[in-house]
Amino acid sequence: MFKITHYVNGQHTPASTRSQEIFEPATGECRGQVSLASSDEVAAAIAIAKSAFETWSQVTPLNRARVLFKFKALVEQHMDELAQLITREHGKVLDDAKGELIRGLEVVEFACGIPHLLKGEHTQQVGGGVDSWSVNQALGVVAGIAPFNFPVMVPMWMFPIAIACGNTFIMKPSEKDPSSVMRIAELLKQAGLPDGVFNVINGDKEAVDTLLTHPDVQAVSFVGSTPIAEYIYSTASKHGKRVQALGGAKNHMLLMPDADLDQAVSALMGAAYGSAGERCMAISVVLAVGDVGDALVEKLLPQIQNLKVGNGLTPEMEMGPLISKQHLAKVTDYVETGVREGATLLVDGRQLTVADHQQGYFLGACLFDNVTPEMRIYREEIFGPVLSIVRVKDYPTALTLINQHEFGNGTAIFTQSGEAARHFCHHVQVGMVGVNVPIPVPMAFHSFGGWKRSLFGPLHMHGPDGVRFYTKRKAITARWPVGKQTQAEFVMPTMK
Ligand code: NAD
Repeated sequence: MFKITHYVNGQHTPASTRSQEIFEPATGECRGQVSLASSDEVAAAIAIAKSAFETWSQVTPLNRARVLFKFKALVEQHMDELAQLITREHGKVLDDAKGELIRGLEVVEFACGIPHLLKGEHTQQVGGGVDSWSVNQALGVVAGIAPFNFPVMVPMWMFPIAIACGNTFIMKPSEKDPSSVMRIAELLKQAGLPDGVFNVINGDKEAVDTLLTHPDVQAVSFVGSTPIAEYIYSTASKHGKRVQALGGAKNHMLLMPDADLDQAVSALMGAAYGSAGERCMAISVVLAVGDVGDALVEKLLPQIQNLKVGNGLTPEMEMGPLISKQHLAKVTDYVETGVREGATLLVDGRQLTVADHQQGYFLGACLFDNVTPEMRIYREEIFGPVLSIVRVKDYPTALTLINQHEFGNGTAIFTQSGEAARHFCHHVQVGMVGVNVPIPVPMAFHSFGGWKRSLFGPLHMHGPDGVRFYTKRKAITARWPVGKQTQAEFVMPTMK
């Protein structure tokens, strides 16, 4: 049993008065306790970060990048250790945990280019003897609030760019799996990051609300469920902060009758059941167009039956448990709802047992056929290993369904028709689109974000939007006149 507190000013703090248990999803055992910060503890961390900003924002971008280069090397050295921490607390299989670390490191690599990324624009001679240019300056103290499902990757969408830009950072991880980010904080210090630049505050609503309302926090990045994202966006905006709040999803695969079905089914298996469906980009609905539904089911069933479900630490496993007992109950409840609503449950994962892991939060892969758009299992995000097949008569009907859905995070079309793919990319109302790619997560040098109720705020995460989000622009207009200007001007200045 261990105790996790907070990481402020380069060191672990004493425990808070309140705390919460951390569980190992594969065994159901309690691993330790995590402190839940009080409002005063959060305010103290903000004060430290504010003071660190004075010096960190003046370090040259090149030297800030050099810290990130060292940090990248350290994460690579500690990859196995970090992946173990993720798997123990989240449950995902080890290789998937490593994949999450690599995708996170790509943002660190992008942020290493910060001297180039921060360059402004310059125009010589905007008027006679007048030059004008813009610079991008850091905001100050910024905060990140993360969900449980990517305990390292989501924080890495945020802090590498934020600190590379010269900000100081307060990270609030999910209280369900905080250990890996605490280790990240130690590695940042080892890489040479000055104390107070990156701080971790563990906690629940009390900690979050303090970050949202404190006058010294300039911007908030959030990733989590839609109701909380909306709350974060409205509360922090009301308190004058810049906000990007990414929410939930219901990602559709549009399967055309001309698609390469073997390729589509393999892609679907990983996209629907990888990480037990606990990914914001997981495919949870297949729109089977025309008569492709029967062939799809025929190819899917044996693959689902062969899926290896077990402890994520066991090397050959493909799918681990769900995050918590409560979440297992919630997802199981959705399976019961689907049956009640009249969908055909072709594979019932509730019957799964994992040897020697009776107390683990396991649910086998579930497959529903004949799902209709009115059903709750279609409308709501389940966030578990539950895939729904909706049979649709044609492509326009399928496109309309995607466009009418509340969420617009990711989607993919599987087809061999360039014409259909092009039409889809142009007309679909979704932020991230794949063509024969099931999980179209943009690379770090592009930006990640959904549309509709999957994102609140104008800017996406990382890539060029990340740099824009964590900096403010200043435009400078300068004249070095020969001789002194002697006449006052009372009309609106125009360039002559
Ligand atoms: P969550 O919304 O329950 O929690 C996210 C964070 O918000 C946590 O740090 C939590 O402590 C905090 N929080 C929870 N309730 C709060 C409250 N009432 N007031 C203030 N703060 C609160 O989400 P989760 O269950 O940890 O993560 C799963 C969700 O995240 C899914 O909906 C998933 O789609 C979404 N997600 C979205 C993306 C994306 O990029 N759009 C990426 C990953 C996960």
